[in-house]
Amino acid sequence: MSEGPALVPGELRGYRQFTLRRDGLYPLVHVSEGPWDGALQHARCAEHGHHPPAARCRCGLYAWYLPGSATVSVGPVAAVVAARGRCVLGDRGFRAESARIEAVTLPASLLWRPRHAASVRAMLARDYPRTRVYRLTRRMLRDHPPHDVRGLGIDPPRDPSRGYRAAAVALWAAFLLAVFSLGAVPHAARVEALTQWWPLLILVILAWQTALIWLFMRLIAQQMPEAPREDDAPG
Ligand SMILES: [Zn+2]
Repeated sequence: MSEGPALVPGELRGYRQFTLRRDGLYPLVHVSEGPWDGALQHARCAEHGHHPPAARCRCGLYAWYLPGSATVSVGPVAAVVAARGRCVLGDRGFRAESARIEAVTLPASLLWRPRHAASVRAMLARDYPRTRVYRLTRRMLRDHPPHDVRGLGIDPPRDPSRGYRAAAVALWAAFLLAVFSLGAVPHAARVEALTQWWPLLILVILAWQTALIWLFMRLIAQQMPEAPREDDAPG
């Protein structure tokens, strides 16, 4: 990986999340910086005041090359951004001099709050007129697929976050189904099964717990809250 920031020709697409507030889209970290600009957001280095991004600093507007970990959390807004200017290119993501928000997916919780959703849409239309608003992440990603960054000498590792999340949901569903079907079995048969099969039952529950914990650990490992840091890599 190169030492200093590279000048990326055109725009570089990335994925990240924002906190949705009444008055705009805020970064997850550095919320005090205020909401992103509706046209073009410029990075600022709060620590050193130099021109961002810099290789040995954490400044710059960050995003991932692939949508995986930027689209698994349910609370924040998943977004597609287009970065331009100088960029520090990492293995999984980049930090850019400036960026605009191409598209956002509204959080699922808004589906049950239509009035709040309407006011959010009105705010986005007013303050982010160039940003496309989606209800489903899948649709947003279909219209905004990742750029092929191999031309920049980067081959980002596959991000399995969405697969982990799907597996965790399936495990939960299987557990609930098992509990419900147990309720349908007559009481006497249930007691007999329990006395005969309890060691197996404990094994199954242990395996289920272990798998769920493992999946959550993998998910958390993919979710780095901070910007990609060039200085974590040796050399
Ligand atoms: Zn800096």
